[in-house]
Amino acid sequence: MVARSALLFLSRREGLKDFATRFKPFKKMTTRFVAGEDIETTIQAIRELNAIGCTATFDHLNESVTTVAETEAEVREYKNILARIDETGIKSNVSIKLTQFGLGFDPELTYRNARAIVEDAARRGNFVRIDMEDSAVTEVTLDIFKRLRAEFDLNTVGIVLQSYLRRTYDDVQDVLKIPARIRICKGAYNEPAEVAFPDKKDVDENYVRCMKLMLRSGVYHGIATHDEKMIEATVNFVNQESIGKDTFEFQMLYGVRRDLQEKLAREGYGMRVYVPYGKTWYPYFMRRLAERPANVWFVLKNLFKG
Ligand SMILES: Cc1cc2nc3c(=O)[nH]c(=O)nc-3n(C[C@H](O)[C@H](O)[C@H](O)COP(=O)(O)OP(=O)(O)OC[C@H]3O[C@@H](n4cnc5c(N)ncnc54)[C@H](O)[C@@H]3O)c2cc1C
Repeated sequence: MVARSALLFLSRREGLKDFATRFKPFKKMTTRFVAGEDIETTIQAIRELNAIGCTATFDHLNESVTTVAETEAEVREYKNILARIDETGIKSNVSIKLTQFGLGFDPELTYRNARAIVEDAARRGNFVRIDMEDSAVTEVTLDIFKRLRAEFDLNTVGIVLQSYLRRTYDDVQDVLKIPARIRICKGAYNEPAEVAFPDKKDVDENYVRCMKLMLRSGVYHGIATHDEKMIEATVNFVNQESIGKDTFEFQMLYGVRRDLQEKLAREGYGMRVYVPYGKTWYPYFMRRLAERPANVWFVLKNLFKG
């Protein structure tokens, strides 16, 4: 728990980010969780996933941008991704973080930027998932999502909710009323006990409660986890309720439990892999280390190997 908080704290340090991004041995290790630095390398990674029966969601890493020009560059990047998905025929949608589009300084600009991506996806028959970031932006992220969902249909834009937040069960109920497609995950940020369950047991219990509510709704949702207990609970639930395998999908991160990704795809479940790329990988990479202390040993071992 302490190691997790320390790593998440470090993920926010700008100075460390600059150092790590320039430090070659550290950079080399990111390939475990990050597909590459550009769109074309990522397309190749997605082709390989498609070949083993997995779909993908394309993610350009660049959270917490601070200028209007940067947000405009992000819009161009995502339009380019959507065009390349069409041109190459790979099976992938896209995931975006609203801080990429200016959420830290101008929510209205963020809405306009996100809308431009969603509109492009709608035109192409593709889908945009809005990732959920830390609890300081939960409300505004949901507000922007709801505005977009009011304009675009169910299969064009969806949201992420995190089971570690105390508010999430209510949010799931609320979002299902719209209705809308949800990706449920446990949550990856450092949160105070007032807003998030400090105990894993409560996070897991809430995850299962939310999963059940979602899968009963008949809307196509994403069950995002590498936790075999959460997967087993989902499989048992859909069997018990006779919910079809094609009415939801499992989702996992690139480089995490590839064995399980392949197994679920082989068993006929929808399996989508979140595939991030880009030069600004530091905060994403640090969150992956925080999720599993053994990953830190992997990093240290590789650093000392040179
Ligand atoms: C597709 C997808 C999208 C996501 N989107 C968001 C989002 O928008 N917002 C957000 O806050 N979080 C997001 N997350 C991250 C999520 O919140 C969790 O931090 C992460 O998935 C770990 O939780 P878990 O369910 O795998 O369970 P845990 O209990 O954390 O892990 C269970 C087991 O899975 C394996 N595992 C988990 N993580 C790792 C890792 N990094 N490296 C190696 N093994 C690992 C380990 O064996 C571990 O014991 C996303 C996750 C996925 C899969």
